[in-house]
Amino acid sequence: MRFCDKCGALLMPGKGKTLSCPSCGKRVKAEKIVIKEAGEKKHAKLKKAPQEIKATEPIVDAMCEKCGNKKAFWWTAQVGAAGPGAEEIPDVEFYRCTKCNNTWRKSG
Ligand SMILES: [Zn+2]
Ligand SMILES: [Zn+2]
Repeated sequence: MRFCDKCGALLMPGKGKTLSCPSCGKRVKAEKIVIKEAGEKKHAKLKKAPQEIKATEPIVDAMCEKCGNKKAFWWTAQVGAAGPGAEEIPDVEFYRCTKCNNTWRKSG
């Protein structure tokens, strides 16, 4: 709050960034109220680890549908669990393009 230094009346918010005295009409510039924020906002960047390509996987001739590259890492994995009645878990062949990391699978 500010008071008029001319007549001592309480200044009221006027037009724009001014305070005006309702008693004598004196106008003064409103002071900026600076509120300092406690502490700085720290932008913690979450770094996502890129999918690492296992260098031990063999590279085979496989056509990448995404970029047309003809070399891909190849490995097999058993996908799914053997439930009752399931005789065996089929091996699924996986391919990952050496160029664009496009990964696809081929079962059977
Ligand atoms: Zn005044
Ligand atoms: Zn590709």
